[in-house]
Amino acid sequence: MTKKINKIAVFTSGGDSPGMNSAIRSVVRTCAFMKLECVAIYRGYQGMIDGDFKPMNARSVNNIINKGGTVLKSARCEEFRTPEGRKKAYDQLVKAKIDAFVVIGGNGSFAGAQLFNEEFDFPVMGIPGTIDNDIIGTSYTIGFDTAINTVVEVIDKIRDTASSHNRLFFVEVMGRDVGHIALNAGVGAGAEEILIPEQNLGLERLLDSLKRSKKSGKSSSIVIVAEGDKTGKNVFELKEYVEEHLPIYDVRVSVLGHMQRGGNPTCFDRVLASRMGVKSVEALLEGKSNYMVGIRDTKLVLVPIKEAISAHTAIDEELIRVSDIMTT
Ligand code: ATP
Repeated sequence: MTKKINKIAVFTSGGDSPGMNSAIRSVVRTCAFMKLECVAIYRGYQGMIDGDFKPMNARSVNNIINKGGTVLKSARCEEFRTPEGRKKAYDQLVKAKIDAFVVIGGNGSFAGAQLFNEEFDFPVMGIPGTIDNDIIGTSYTIGFDTAINTVVEVIDKIRDTASSHNRLFFVEVMGRDVGHIALNAGVGAGAEEILIPEQNLGLERLLDSLKRSKKSGKSSSIVIVAEGDKTGKNVFELKEYVEEHLPIYDVRVSVLGHMQRGGNPTCFDRVLASRMGVKSVEALLEGKSNYMVGIRDTKLVLVPIKEAISAHTAIDEELIRVSDIMTT
């Protein structure tokens, strides 16, 4: 028989993403609504090992739905990767009479939760919080929508200056393994080329595209480059390459960096996080464990964590085609 759940812990882990606070708030308020005890764990798995816990009630999460980052802090924790570290964490949870936890994070955080569940038969539920949108089984992760809107807003500004001076800008965006941010923000911002880790278009195609763009009378060009793109050159090397082969261009580089993680979550991310938080608690109360809450075709679904962490989501081929057509 599954043990009755009276007390649920919630924490954030791995890289932060906008909307994590909205998810924390949702888990805490759902617990309050269901008359369950709720405990926050600070600093992810490290805080679990250290017993860094704080009881939460509905009022503990006032005024955080709109805030970026995570009020519970996040951390990477090497010790949790070891059986000894996970045993320490388990002992802390038992000591605090915690019956289940909800982890808000990415692939690595879920891998840790899955192991923990298998080793101690401890109920766990995941909520996907990462700007990368790279988790299998969900069309959206919390933070992705905010990140692409941030990127589009910045590129709009860069375009203003690019078109005033007939410049070409290489804009580097986050995405070491996946190009979802680059592709979506690139289409949204009207980029001339989008370089992503999933495909290698080659430098020749880049030069051809830029030549065509100049010939067709475009006054400025924006090329979006994901961090892990496959040309083998970073944005600064790309600048040099184009300057050497196409001296007609005045080339500039902009690396967006961590600003892509920050900022107030969009309404989409807040609503998604609120829905996922409710679902995570409800699922635990139904006796489910070792799942991630996902969204598919606007409906919430439960995806086995094993499946969620099995690979990165594939790039949207249709969006690549749209991007190609838009650059005509
Ligand atoms: P992001 O997508 O932002 O990188 P993430 O959740 O994938 O987020 P990671 O740094 O990979 O971030 O993982 C967060 C933490 O989860 C790690 O610091 C570690 O404590 C734990 N963790 C990750 N992988 C494992 C694993 N295989 N076994 C046990 N714990 C793990």
